[in-house]
Amino acid sequence: MDPIEDQPLPPPAPFMFGCDECVRLLRAFGEMVTADVGCFTEQLAVARHIVDDHPGEVPPPHTRNCDRCPHYAAYADDRGGLWAEHRARDLFLPEAVARLL
Ligand SMILES: [Zn+2]
Ligand SMILES: [Zn+2]
Repeated sequence: MDPIEDQPLPPPAPFMFGCDECVRLLRAFGEMVTADVGCFTEQLAVARHIVDDHPGEVPPPHTRNCDRCPHYAAYADDRGGLWAEHRARDLFLPEAVARLL
């Protein structure tokens, strides 16, 4: 799986620059993208951190152009935080890539 392909990364959400852990994780992620090696683990780490430490920054469910949100919404609770992680991906990935997971 090579989800980044040729899409430029968007600027990360401003709040991320105020958090040392966000900056560290984004740097690790960016290095993997630049090196053109798999960055799947790094993507997950950034999303997980946002959900855990910045829950107020997680975007609301997508109402358009998302195959995943209706699927996640079918489950009453988001116990594992997977839906939140999915939405957090919008904060640092191109939309088409963010919505793959
Ligand atoms: Zn952070
Ligand atoms: Zn979605």
